[in-house]
Amino acid sequence: MTCKACARAKQEPRSPDYKTGCLSCSARALATGPTYFEAQQSQSMTPPYRNALRAIFGERWKAGHRLVRLWARLISRQRSPSWEQSQRTSKP
Ligand SMILES: [Zn+2]
Repeated sequence: MTCKACARAKQEPRSPDYKTGCLSCSARALATGPTYFEAQQSQSMTPPYRNALRAIFGERWKAGHRLVRLWARLISRQRSPSWEQSQRTSKP
């Protein structure tokens, strides 16, 4: 999205490539990490997750959260082998 590592991760979301200083990479790292996982499990903005967002995105942490969710969606879609099929059959 914003760097080569992100472009590669779009095809291969489990790619371990992260570029230092790239916000999109930082969001992707969060999306694959335990902090976001916990927040997702509890379906709330847990303090550790919010702190992590603030550490990366500062005042724009809400926009950062949207970016993390975007990556998390991409990652979970491609993790499942039948995601293409479910894309085709699911109604909007
Ligand atoms: Zn990047």
